Amino acid sequence: MEYEAVIGLEVHAQLLTRSKIFCGCATTFGAPPNTQVCEVCLGMPGSLPVLNRSAVEFALKMALATHCVIPPESVFARKNYFYPDLPKGYQISQYELPLAERGHLDIQVDGRKRRIGITRIHLEEDAGKLIHSETRPLSFVDFNRTGVPLIEIVSEPDLRTPEEAVEYLKGLRDILLYLEICDGNMEEGSLRCDANISLRPVGAQELGTKAELKNMNSFRFVKAALEYEIKRQRALLSAGGEVVQETRLWDAAQGKTISMRGKEEAHDYRYFPDPDLVPVTIDPDWLTALWQGLPELPAARAARFQTEYGLPDYDAEVLTGDKALADYFEATVRKFAQPKQVSNWIMSELLRELKKEEAGIAACRVTPTALADLLALVEKGTISGKLAKTVFEEMVATGLDPETIIKEKGLVQISDTGALEAAAREIIAANPKEAADYRAGKTKVLGFFVGQLMRQTKGQANPQLANEIFKRLLG
Ligand SMILES: [Zn+2]
Repeated sequence: MEYEAVIGLEVHAQLLTRSKIFCGCATTFGAPPNTQVCEVCLGMPGSLPVLNRSAVEFALKMALATHCVIPPESVFARKNYFYPDLPKGYQISQYELPLAERGHLDIQVDGRKRRIGITRIHLEEDAGKLIHSETRPLSFVDFNRTGVPLIEIVSEPDLRTPEEAVEYLKGLRDILLYLEICDGNMEEGSLRCDANISLRPVGAQELGTKAELKNMNSFRFVKAALEYEIKRQRALLSAGGEVVQETRLWDAAQGKTISMRGKEEAHDYRYFPDPDLVPVTIDPDWLTALWQGLPELPAARAARFQTEYGLPDYDAEVLTGDKALADYFEATVRKFAQPKQVSNWIMSELLRELKKEEAGIAACRVTPTALADLLALVEKGTISGKLAKTVFEEMVATGLDPETIIKEKGLVQISDTGALEAAAREIIAANPKEAADYRAGKTKVLGFFVGQLMRQTKGQANPQLANEIFKRLLG
């Protein structure tokens, strides 16, 4: 029997507010343990939470960007459970009345566009962090993260493949970065993802029993964990067995999911409205102002890159997938007005160099102006396209501008016809067989001759001129 996967994601994004969601403590990542705490986030008796307006504003921006409906009122609720990283014994979250609901995000996989429903977006506080000693049977707890604002974005079970799940997650991350409300760093835990996944016979309406996957802190792990889980559940169902409802952990080292707890051990959170916090009412004027202030989002920017710069769909998607990269592209095009050329350089040379250095565009030593200068030098014929690649590598390594590198290394293209012709004559004389072949009509041999000349001049011969010279001498 053929099965299809039904996948829904729960994504937690840490908001980039300066202070925590219910107190004034700082949220700086990497501060010494327990230095960013107060009576509120430590859950001391008698302390009272006060909602951070910026956290609500950031959450509303995400809700607007994902086309959610924002009800006039939402309510904070206590989610009760007991764990050493949770000082109050409950987490303040939203349950029955979330901040936003019924939104969507459009994704594209293999050229196929799909709309993925967003069930809800709600605000909540983060818990602390346990650090387990490797040498002693001890665990330490750091409450710096306690009370850091999060949004949880819950999707409809609309995703059908691991690839779609990854695209959706990337899409959310892009928007968060464009809105500048989350740093999107999955390794540091600012963006976390859980998945619900079940299988059902193709064509069936009813949902199968699902497993919940946790602990997937990279796009690669999300894909691998979902692929593994599809295989596991398919094998179970094909053998006439049943999938049990449970929470499973992705074990990256073993490359598989392992059972963490079954349904009978599932938490009963006993949610109830938090009596310390009044319902959140959203002023429609505030919402309008936020809507009008939204930046151009990835999908809109990709569409504009196609119409304004005449870029293919693929280029537009890649460039706008990273806000900083899209900014870099536009800054370069302002100085060198050949968008497709700029796009080619960024997508091949620049991205390859960045990948080598495992750095983002922000750390790139080549400024848009320097790249534009380089492309202009190729355009003018000062250097060949091939040499430009060498110069570019040097620019990435040193941060110097192209003219300086070309001067220092003596890389200027040789366009002196006399000098090239003399070298060309020698090459022809040294290769009589190839010369005869060319004259007998095997014009492909021309490439061989040009290649020889390029090698002799260390790539500095003007290739177009070299072509012309050989054609003339051999003709
Ligand atoms: Zn605090």
